Amino acid sequence: MPKTPAPPRLVAWETTRACNLACHHCRAEAVTEPLPDELGYEEGARLLRQLSEFSPPPFVILSGGEPLMREGILDLAALGTSLGLRMLLSTNGTLLTSGLCQKIRDSGIKRLSLSLDGPDATTHDDLRGVPGSFDAVTRAAALLAEAGLPFQINSTITPGNIFETSRIAGLARDLGAVACHVFLLVPTGRARDMETDGIAPDGYESALRELKLAEPFLQMEFKATCAPQYQRIACELGMHQPRSGKGCLGGNGFMFVGHDGMVAACGYLPLSAGSVRESHPVEVYARSPLFLALRDKSNYRGKCGSCEYWEICGGCRARAHAKGDYLGPEPLCPHEPASIRRRASHA
Ligand code: SF4
Ligand code: SF4
Repeated sequence: MPKTPAPPRLVAWETTRACNLACHHCRAEAVTEPLPDELGYEEGARLLRQLSEFSPPPFVILSGGEPLMREGILDLAALGTSLGLRMLLSTNGTLLTSGLCQKIRDSGIKRLSLSLDGPDATTHDDLRGVPGSFDAVTRAAALLAEAGLPFQINSTITPGNIFETSRIAGLARDLGAVACHVFLLVPTGRARDMETDGIAPDGYESALRELKLAEPFLQMEFKATCAPQYQRIACELGMHQPRSGKGCLGGNGFMFVGHDGMVAACGYLPLSAGSVRESHPVEVYARSPLFLALRDKSNYRGKCGSCEYWEICGGCRARAHAKGDYLGPEPLCPHEPASIRRRASHA
């Protein structure tokens, strides 16, 4: 009988796939109108009540698409708050007004995230697919700062902007963000055909190494997310913090609920662990075969399965899946585990 895992710290709920932008790298392949199989208000309310049964209750990210396009989103946020959930909102910022900021504050949302993919309009608007979205996100940051609502900047990192990451973090700080989280591109959804291999894996390795060394000078909370090898790099540089957790939290500290109720390890890994329309999310998190497989190193294949850094890294299961095997090696990591090096030297 597998032991009961620690509860997830974070649950992301894709409240809608409707969005007013058309980002080239959109994981959700967002569309302009809500999809017919989206969880309704009552189903969403039941989901929040069920999530509040985790002990302690997790942070819940209301995400999308663009969650502010969903009717009743702030009523759901207020319900989550009243249930003891710590509610977060992930938005592209384009729909914010000062009146809406007030309503967001009243709903008890603890922090928002704004997406910013470049230090200037050229890079950001190009990736977001809509001219003017850089101006819109900087205006949104100003509105949030004025309303006293804490926000972080989330950036998707591609071969095209990876060497601009320190500048993005600098801009985030200047905009008044409390944190900057960068997400290494996963080729899924509309990003499926985007180039991750252009500088891989050695280019990512040196960019991530440079970033780790720059981190103490960024003067703000900084996280490289969905770059699990960042933890291994931190270790190699003698900069690893034990409380920074495992690199990949998919199904093991983190859970994703899709617009239609499908539960996944994360939004980038399109494999179903169950559906909240049929099963209780606490049960799915504890016992689904997919999550159990992800938590057990002995299931991993290739170098991630033999790696001395697995406990703090694990490799990105979604990038491995995009290469054909979700338990296979992380394609963007050049590390050769010690056991493989030893075997090679004895051959
Ligand atoms: S599988 Fe990849 S994208 Fe998903 S949580 Fe893990 S590192 Fe992030
Ligand atoms: S081989 Fe896999 S587990 Fe090891 S550091 Fe690289 S990505 Fe992480």
